Amino acid sequence: MADPEELERPDAKRDWGAALPEVETDPIAARRLPHQPPPRLYEKRKAVHNKRIDGPFRRFKWLIMVVTLAIYYVTPWIRWDRGPYAPDQAVLIDLANRRFYMFDIEIWPHEFYFVAGMLIMAGIGLFLVTSAVGRAWCGYACPQTVWTDLFQHIDRLIDGDRNARIRLDKAPWGPAKIARRGAKWSIYLLISMLTGGAWILYFADAPTLFVDFFRLEADPVAYMTVAILTGTTFWLGGFMREQVCIYMCPWPRIQGAMLDEKSLIVTYKDWRGEPRGSLKKSLKNPDEYGDCVDCLQCVAVCPTGIDIREGQQIGCITCALCIDACDRVMKDIGRPRGLIDYATLEQCEAEAAGAPAQPAWKALVRPRTFIYFGIWGAIGLAMLFALGTRSHTDLTVSPDRNPPFMLMKDGSVRNSYTLRLRNMEARPREMEVSFAGLPEGSVMWTDRIGREDAATAQVLTVPADETRVVRVYVVTPAGTDVDNFRFVLTSLDEQRESDSEETTFTAPGDE
Ligand code: SF4
Ligand code: SF4
Repeated sequence: MADPEELERPDAKRDWGAALPEVETDPIAARRLPHQPPPRLYEKRKAVHNKRIDGPFRRFKWLIMVVTLAIYYVTPWIRWDRGPYAPDQAVLIDLANRRFYMFDIEIWPHEFYFVAGMLIMAGIGLFLVTSAVGRAWCGYACPQTVWTDLFQHIDRLIDGDRNARIRLDKAPWGPAKIARRGAKWSIYLLISMLTGGAWILYFADAPTLFVDFFRLEADPVAYMTVAILTGTTFWLGGFMREQVCIYMCPWPRIQGAMLDEKSLIVTYKDWRGEPRGSLKKSLKNPDEYGDCVDCLQCVAVCPTGIDIREGQQIGCITCALCIDACDRVMKDIGRPRGLIDYATLEQCEAEAAGAPAQPAWKALVRPRTFIYFGIWGAIGLAMLFALGTRSHTDLTVSPDRNPPFMLMKDGSVRNSYTLRLRNMEARPREMEVSFAGLPEGSVMWTDRIGREDAATAQVLTVPADETRVVRVYVVTPAGTDVDNFRFVLTSLDEQRESDSEETTFTAPGDE
């Protein structure tokens, strides 16, 4: 009986021709042919059973996996003391109060430019990483890669390494296979539920929501979100796997366009490896064969199941596990490492022409990397500066448009405004609202402070971490002419922060 691994030879070239029926060109013969099915344009997926490997890149991948998963699952549980008036969750997207908390940073809706800045930094960060180390994001930190890798370890834990998994895949369904599949899919499901469950904890107080969720007292949106994320994680990580990277994700195409001849990529050095031949043949005729002994270890460990020796492919996520595999083979047969290695296309050409191999870090030192880093750093510094110097007091003013003014019996003119006073501190504050640029004799009062207490300034208390909406009435003496003036908001504490906003004053004849 054929060795199952042999049947699954990962290097088996895709026989596109075999998938297509032969076309009969002779019309008479064609009439005699029985009905042929239409050509298949889609090749059925071959399951990828990647082999376990150890090496520096695999260990680095482990490290990134542990760090990213720990950040994702643990972050909502980190507490952060913001005083009695603000939530004590370190990272919280408080949709109900339209607030985003991240440790000491609190973003209000009118400061959305900070979120936009973070998104721009994330985008430029990806450009920076791609220009420096190719598709490293795909290979190490992309959530699809991390969860697929995690699920592949579950496969290994339950079903064994590559050969055992191939055998089990081919085995008919029976109690043993059902038990293994049941155990494996249950673990997938548990991880998927934890993934969806962790996500909702970013949107509410984690311990409270955790308890409410199991008491069936949480918001229905929470259950829906967990169900959707459980389903997508289970399906995309457990079953779709590399197909997401190859067929569904747009990022490999974008990254492909961003790479140039100076970007680091994982590459097979064919000028050194070809013509390939088995170790036995190459030992017998050393001058006839290159360094590749055609052992297929590089293919066996590849999480997307591709053969890097066929050149650059969209399925290569640059995870470098094939480098670990090939380096181990080279060590075992006493040949220099680096037959598969990180290199730039420029270096590949130079090496093929006989130049010595260059250390990979040299590819990082180039203008494009510095330009991206400069832009990324400048945006980061600008945001830090804006965060460090921003006021925790904010004022917005909306004048009434209908009616735009009231003409009083004594000839004075009254305008009405809606003021939003923001106290972005985690404590209540006394704030003074005043005006500047109005003629002498002008006064103001609010919906809480009556006309009898009208004055040139009013003091109000604004609760901690809140926006107080106030109706303000301003009256100017008869016969005065004014177009624009400013409202000024000043906190009456030791900080004496202030903000102001210009607005219009409408009088008869202005409208
Ligand atoms: S692991 Fe190295 S030697 Fe083995 S097939 Fe791949 S490239 Fe050739
Ligand atoms: S070819 Fe190598 S670098 Fe590319 S995905 Fe496969 S193992 Fe990773």
